[in-house]
Amino acid sequence: MMPVSSPTEIYIFVGPPGSGKGSLASICFERIGWEMLSTGNLCRKHIAEQTEIGQEIDFAIKSGKLVSDELISQMVAQWFVGKSGQEKAVILDGYPRTLRQAETFDNLLKNSSQKLKLYIVQLMVSDETVVERLSFRFMCSNKECQAVYSIHAGSLCAPKIEGRCDRCNCLLVRRVDDEAAAIRKRLQVYYQHAKDLLSFYDKMGYSIVKIDVEKPLELVFEDFAKHIGVASI
Ligand code: AMP
Repeated sequence: MMPVSSPTEIYIFVGPPGSGKGSLASICFERIGWEMLSTGNLCRKHIAEQTEIGQEIDFAIKSGKLVSDELISQMVAQWFVGKSGQEKAVILDGYPRTLRQAETFDNLLKNSSQKLKLYIVQLMVSDETVVERLSFRFMCSNKECQAVYSIHAGSLCAPKIEGRCDRCNCLLVRRVDDEAAAIRKRLQVYYQHAKDLLSFYDKMGYSIVKIDVEKPLELVFEDFAKHIGVASI
């Protein structure tokens, strides 16, 4: 695996599906110019492009299971290689998700020539809220965009034009894994791994910032900005 060389701050977002990891990452990207990497987006892009990897992971994604640790960690390592030389903070949305991934990522960081600061951010939300949110979630069908929207009345993430992406005007669609059986599976998989993942970082001496996300995104962002000492914009 190639060493990481550039980002100085890395924020690992840990939270169940529908907790708003992607939405919070997007708002940080838009307002504070941070980089974001969503491993889910990378996987969906492979599927849309029907690459060999895409064909291999299609079933796992549809059924709410995890893709193999090795494959995901390779994708992440490759992404970091492509980013070497830039110093913006990076948000990892959905990686690491298992203890094995956390250990692999830790090795990647240790081999980095650059000084990196890791922050673990846990998004706290109830299962009921998650299930409700996912039933209102839509995503841009453009594989290069994949912006996330909510059609919940009054949501900050509602599209300006119904059914169309604000960024690229492509059609909004439902995610194949936002269907009841896959949601149940994804929640189960999340709880199965989250405890080990968080206790790994706890033992490593990282403080885990807990953010209550049972509130509108604007307030979640304010809270997050306050915790990390960035003025909310
Ligand atoms: P997400 O968009 O983060 O909800 O991820 C969607 C799906 O992509 C997950 O249900 C997994 O099938 C796959 N995936 C994304 N990130 C990972 C990861 N770190 N490890 C394994 N599978 C992943």
